[in-house]
This record gives sequence, structure tokens and C-alpha cells, in this order.
Amino acid sequence: MKTFFTSCPAIIHDPPHVLADIIHQGHPVSPKHFRHEIDHDGIAWITFDSPKSSANVWNEETLREFNHLLETIEHDTRVKALVLRSAKDRIFIAGADIKAIRNMQNVRVNELIWLGQAVFDRLARLRVPKVAAIHGACMGGGFEVTLACDWRIASDSDSTKIGLPETQLGILPAWGGSTRLPRLIGVRKALDLITSGKLLNASAAKHAGLVSHVVAPERLELLARSLVRKKKPTPRFRFENLLSPIVGMLAERKVQEKTRGLYPSVTKAVEVVTEAVHGDVENGLQLERNAVAELIKSHDSARLIDLFFKREEANKRPASGGTALPIHDATVIGAGVMGAGIAHTLASRGVRVLMTDVSNDSLARGLERIHGLVSDATRRRLVTKVQARDTLDRISTTHVPVPLNRHHLIIEAATESMELKKKIFADLAARVSADTILATNTSALSVAELARTVPHPERVIGLHFFNPVHRMPLVEIITLPETSADVLATAVSFVQKLGKTPVVVKDSPGFLVNRILVPYLMEAVRLHEGGIPVKDIDEAMLEFGMPMGPMRLLDEIGLDVAAHVAKTLADAFPDRFPHTDALDKLVSAGHLGKKSGQGFYRYEKGHEIADTTHSDLPRHESIQTNLALLISQEAMRCLKEGIARNAYDIDLAMVLGTGYPPFRGGPITFARDTGIIDY
Ligand code: NAD
Repeated sequence: MKTFFTSCPAIIHDPPHVLADIIHQGHPVSPKHFRHEIDHDGIAWITFDSPKSSANVWNEETLREFNHLLETIEHDTRVKALVLRSAKDRIFIAGADIKAIRNMQNVRVNELIWLGQAVFDRLARLRVPKVAAIHGACMGGGFEVTLACDWRIASDSDSTKIGLPETQLGILPAWGGSTRLPRLIGVRKALDLITSGKLLNASAAKHAGLVSHVVAPERLELLARSLVRKKKPTPRFRFENLLSPIVGMLAERKVQEKTRGLYPSVTKAVEVVTEAVHGDVENGLQLERNAVAELIKSHDSARLIDLFFKREEANKRPASGGTALPIHDATVIGAGVMGAGIAHTLASRGVRVLMTDVSNDSLARGLERIHGLVSDATRRRLVTKVQARDTLDRISTTHVPVPLNRHHLIIEAATESMELKKKIFADLAARVSADTILATNTSALSVAELARTVPHPERVIGLHFFNPVHRMPLVEIITLPETSADVLATAVSFVQKLGKTPVVVKDSPGFLVNRILVPYLMEAVRLHEGGIPVKDIDEAMLEFGMPMGPMRLLDEIGLDVAAHVAKTLADAFPDRFPHTDALDKLVSAGHLGKKSGQGFYRYEKGHEIADTTHSDLPRHESIQTNLALLISQEAMRCLKEGIARNAYDIDLAMVLGTGYPPFRGGPITFARDTGIIDY
């Protein structure tokens, strides 16, 4: 059957009117997603506003409609300039419609790539000045369309986030992004943005050269109006682009070090971006098309896209059956590593926090930590100076008991001791109102036992943040049979508002992530006891795709802490988690891991040194199979015992909580894909 894509290979070379004919073949376009007005200055204001949706996305329908609009504008002699904007509150254009792509056959995806390239190329060729007025999320294809404009300006709203995250989905920017971005900001910066997939706020985007101006949302229109009167900016000559093979080689080396070649999309992106900067734009677009056609054939991309959806759903799905209360104020008990981290995260998301500890000294250390986090974020342009000041302003501290009945949520993050936590909970119960939610951040203690110490145990819940709190995206929400539906709904919605992903789990030793991790870590210790060098074990799992080997991870966690969690699990499941005293021996010798300068590695001047550097490559495969199997087996047990609600949640928690290689989809997907366990 002939489709409008049949002649695609000619699209980019052909003049725009031929292109339009192809695109319109047999498909009448009635405007649904775009509004189009021409004002008295001849400015065509194109407003993207998909009906009944909070987002705008590119799919066949929206691309076609946009193309039709461009065609109309091409023939309208009144039009002197064009401004592209969005009517949505928090989204400019969220990118391609991944949901549609997920269900498409590869050949259709390739066709969609053609279509997007052709339509954005048509925009780029439009002779009048074009401005993209960005307010809200502007990602992937949403940003690529702006690269076909002459100016990109952005609102300073905290919803404005700009970037090209395609490599995170196992593909690469192929609607002109890999070709036009290096021309705009230079190969080096373009590679950094595309290979990391990171999203920048407006100020960082301006610093990186993605947008030329940042103004308040209400000033975007005025600024766009003044820019179109100016001469079109001419692209800056970038000397580094002439040296792109060298820049590419260095980037490739960095990427290999980081990903060990396990992420073909990232490697491919380096290749395409460094080549696409030479020759004409069509040459680059051709490279983009070829690369995507190759990448979408792999399973990696399908798994990464699945994971993206699991996470999106967990980030939005409310807990069923309860009513979520908004939380504006919270108390954090304990100003240590976790307490300070939690207080900082809450305050940076607009929650007023009272942080308590036993002494002024402990509070001062906690505040110092928070100041460090805030200034680091400011230096890296993740937040503005005003946002940094507001975050600090929202935190107050006390080391003496004060009434807490104004706060709806208390998060206890004091030292890991059941006796201490019970005392804190009993004391809290006397000072808060009956409906205040009492949450604990314990790593492994029984939430049920804590709940028994207070009246109204239905308001007790576990909120297990991971370390470092500001970076780790996962929060395990631990529920008890008596936890009220409203308390759970409030906890889920609160975690989502913090920008973290909640996974609801049952109260059970080690909860979900630590429980799955412990047999793996302990087996690694046993392998080492059996004579396998730490380097071999770690290398094997790095090759599997873990961000850190198990021996290094144990050193990071602290061997004392790991021994404590391992013992809790060995007591709970003696048949499967036999206790090994290897960790205890190291701890008694004062070897606590990184914090004491010696664990499985020695730590000197910021480097870890293994006692033996001998590495036996053929052995890696059997280590990998053994350890990966243990992770999947324990994950399956958790699924059967109902520790988490479903396999998706387990996969997601392991990827977000431990860095389990996302391209493998998670331990349960891995077990299913490889058949290592009967599924
Ligand atoms: P930490 O030792 O750094 O901090 C604990 C803080 O609690 C100290 O500042 C201490 O003075 C304070 N404290 C002790 N008694 C108190 C009391 N009665 N009232 C108020 N504050 C009191 O410990 P941490 O690493 O921040 O761990 C805190 C909790 O978080 C523990 O339950 C731990 O298991 C859990 N956790 C830790 C990690 C981690 O990686 N560190 C990860 C997840 C969960």
C-alpha cells in the first residue's frame, strides 16, 4: 500500500511544497492541537495546546497538523515572523509520544523519524524570523523543534526544563537534535548534553547556550516581539567543530569508561554528533535516521522505554482508597547524614522543616551538611541563588522539646537503635496531635514493633530514603496491615511531590531493596573468602552493568552497617541467609570500609587500592552468573511473598535504589528474558 511516507528518502532534499504534498497525501488536516493568529505586526503566534491533556507531544497527528500550519504560513504574505509557544501550565512540548512509539513496529518508527525531520526542516527553511518561547518542560523532540528556530527564549519558571534525554531510552535525538545542537553550542557541550540525557533549568540552559534569554513567564511575549524586529542571529563559527574527530575520541573514551560499551545509544550518539557537524544539515539528518533504525532493533531500547513508563506511572499513580492531605510543614528527627539530607530535600521542594537533634553541635553539623548541598547545587546551576536562599530559609532547628502539633508529618531519622527509636516515638506521641503521621527512616528495624509503642498505630509508616538523599530517586514506603488508607495516600503523594519515586512495600526484614541486595553482597564476601580477589568480583559486576562492584559497595555502606543489616536478615531467614563472620572480623579489626580508610580496599588520597590487582577475566562470567542469579532469585521470592505489589515495582525499585542496569529491565525482567529462573 502506498503511504505518504513512500517517497520519504527524497523529503529532505525536496523543496517544502513537494514535501507538503507527500505529507498530505490522502490525509485532510483539521486543526485540533494548534491555534494560529496573525497580529497587526505580521507575527504568526502558533500556540500548541492539545485538547484534554496537560501535555503537548509530537506524534503523527500533531506533526501533520504543524506541517499544514507551516504550509499555510509559507503562502501567507502577511506573515513577517513566527513565534512558537505552548498554552500548557508546566509543559512546552514533552517530546515524542513515547506511548505511541512503544506500540509501533520498527518500520513505522523509522517513518515517524522521517516525518519529524521533514517538518522541522520545513520550519528551519521558513524565511521569516522564528522564535521559540519556552515555558515548561521542553524535552527531546520538544527541544529539537526549537533548534529549527532562530531564537530560543525561556521562562525562569521552575517547570522549565530543557534537554535531549533520548539516549536514556536507548535511542538518540533524530529530529535534527544531534545535527543542529553541535552547530549551536559546539560539539563538546552538545555531546555532554546528549550522552548524559540531563535536563537543564532555564539558568543552566542559558549558561550552556541552549537559550539566549531567560525572563519571567509574563515577559516572554514582549521579548519575542522585540527579537523578531532584530536581525536574525548568525551562527557562531566554532573552531572546536573542525576538530570534532578529536573531541569525539575523547568523549568516546569517557563514555567507554563510564558505560563499558553497555549503552550502544550513547556510543552511537558520540559517533553521530561528531560526524553530523560536518557537511550540510541533510548529511547529519541522514546519519541520525540510520542510527535510530539500527538502535530500535535492540531489546535494550524496549526495556528502557518500559522502565520509563513504570517510573512515570509510579511518579503519578495515587494510592487507592485514601485521601491525600497536602503537607506544608514537617519535623525531621535527627540531623545526621540522613536527617540533614531529608531536611534539605524537603525544604528544596517548598516544605517548611523543623530539624531536631540532641545537641547544638549535632544540629550545627547537620546545618553545615545542608549548606554544603545547597552551595554545591548553586555552583552547578541546579538552583538559582534565590532558590538556594529560600531552601535555607525554610529550615529551622531545635535541640529542646517544642510543641509539634502544628506539623502533620514527623520523619524520624535518628541513630539506628530500636530502643532509641521506641523512646523517640513514645515521646513524640505525647507532643503531637492524634492524626499526625509518624514516619521512620529505619534501614532494617521492624516498623510494626515501633508502631506498637504509640496510640493510633494506623498513622505509623516507614519512609525509607536512600543515601545520598538528594541524588537517590527511590523512597520505599513501608506499610503495616493497620496503616490507614489516608496515611498511605498522603505518604505516596508527598514522596511524589518531592520528585522521588515511591514504591510501596510490606514491613518485612530488609524491606525490599536491602533484602534483595544482602544475599548478593554476602555471596560476594564468601567468594572473596574463598580466594577470589576483590577486583575480580567487582569487575565482573561492573561488566554486568552495576554502577559499582559489590565489594566497593560494602566499603561505601560501611562494613559495620552492612554486618548489622546482614545479621537482621540472617536472624529472620536463617535457612537462606546463613551468617558469615567475615564482616564481623573486619569490623573488630577496625576496618569499617571507606570511612575508616580500610575495608576490602585501602583508601588513600581519594583512591581505592586493592590488595591484589591480579584479574582473571575468564572467571568473570561465572561470577556474574552466580551473583546475578542470586539477585533475581531473591527478587522472585519477594514477589511471591507479596513484599511488593508486583514485578514492575520490584524491577523499578532495584534500578532506582541500587543502579541495577536499567537496560536489563530489572532483576525479574532479566530472569524472564534469560530464563535463568522458572518464571
Ligand atoms: P547518623 O549517625 O549520621 O545520624 C543520626 C543522628 O541522630 C545523629 O546526629 C544523632 O545525634 C541523632 N540522634 C540520636 N538520638 C537522637 C534523639 N533522641 N533525638 C534526635 N536526634 C537523635 O545516622 P544516619 O546514617 O543519618 O541514619 C539515620 C537513620 O537512617 C538510621 O535509622 C539509619 O538506619 C537510616 N538510614 C541510613 C542510611 C545510610 O546510608 N546512612 C540509609 C537509609 C536509612
